[in-house]
Amino acid sequence: WHLARALPYINEGEIIKWFGTNTDIDEQKKLERQKDDFLGIASHELKTPVTSIKAYAQVLGAMLSKEGEDKKADMVLKMDAQLNRLTNLIGDLLDVTKINSGKILFNKSWFNFNEAVKDTISDIQHTTNKHILVMDFKETGTIYSDKERIGQVITNLVTNAIKYSPHSNRIIISTELDNADVVVCVQDFGIGIPDDKKEKVFEQFYRVSGTKQHTFPGLGLGLYISSEIIRREGGKMWVNSIEGKGSTFCFSLPVNDGNVPDTK
Ligand code: ADP
Repeated sequence: WHLARALPYINEGEIIKWFGTNTDIDEQKKLERQKDDFLGIASHELKTPVTSIKAYAQVLGAMLSKEGEDKKADMVLKMDAQLNRLTNLIGDLLDVTKINSGKILFNKSWFNFNEAVKDTISDIQHTTNKHILVMDFKETGTIYSDKERIGQVITNLVTNAIKYSPHSNRIIISTELDNADVVVCVQDFGIGIPDDKKEKVFEQFYRVSGTKQHTFPGLGLGLYISSEIIRREGGKMWVNSIEGKGSTFCFSLPVNDGNVPDTK
C-alpha cells in the first residue's frame, strides 16, 4: 500500500481522520498491464479482417472501373480511403502497445536524410491540393536510423499540420544540421496550442479540447508515438506555438553514436 501524505489525526490514541489517498500501486500496475494487453490483442485481431476487406475493395474497384461503372468504382474508392484511416488507427494502437511493453523494434540502415524527408513529403502532397508543402532543406548528409519510422514521424507531424490548419494553406518543412544533430521542423499557420497544453500534447490519448468551430478527428496517439520513436532513437521532440497563429513541431536526431553524417 502506498499512503500518500496519509498522516492520521490521532485523538487520544483514536484515529479520527485520514488525509490523502490510499493507492494500491500493484493493483494499478496490473490494471495498466491488462489495458495494454487488451489493446494489443484487440488491435491485432482487428488488423487481419481489415487487411482482407481492403484487398477485396481494391480488386472490386479495379473490376468496376474496367467495366465502366465509374459511380460504383468511386464509392469503392471512398470505402478504400476509410479503410486506410481504420488501418492507420489500428497501426497506432499496435504501436502504443509495442512502445509501452518495450517491444518496439528499429530496423536501421544508412540513408540520405533529405531524400527520405522529400519522398515522405511528396507522398503527402499527393493526398491534398488545398495545402502547399514548402520544403526548405539545408544539407544534412546521410544518417544511420530507421527510415520507415522516421518517415512515420514526419508523416504524423505534417498530417497534423494539415489537420489543424483549416483556414491556412502553407506548411513549411525545414531540415538542417545543428552541431551533432539533424533537425527537422514542421511549421504551420493554423489554430496553435495554448501555452499550458504544449507539454501535454506528447502524452498518450491527450487531445486539446475546446477548439471552437471545429471538431478534429483523432485518438491523441500520434505525437506520443512520434516523440517516443525519436526519444528511443536518441533524439528530442519539442513544439513552439502561439494559439491562433500556428505551431512549429521540431525533432532532432544525433549524428554521433553511429548516426555519422556522410561528409563526402
Ligand atoms: P490527434 O491528432 O489524433 O488528436 P496527436 O497525438 O497527433 O493526436 O496530437 C495530440 C493533440 O495535439 C491534438 O489532439 C491537438 O489538440 C494537438 N495538436 C497536434 N498537432 C497540432 C498542430 N499542428 N496544431 C495545433 N494543435 C496540434
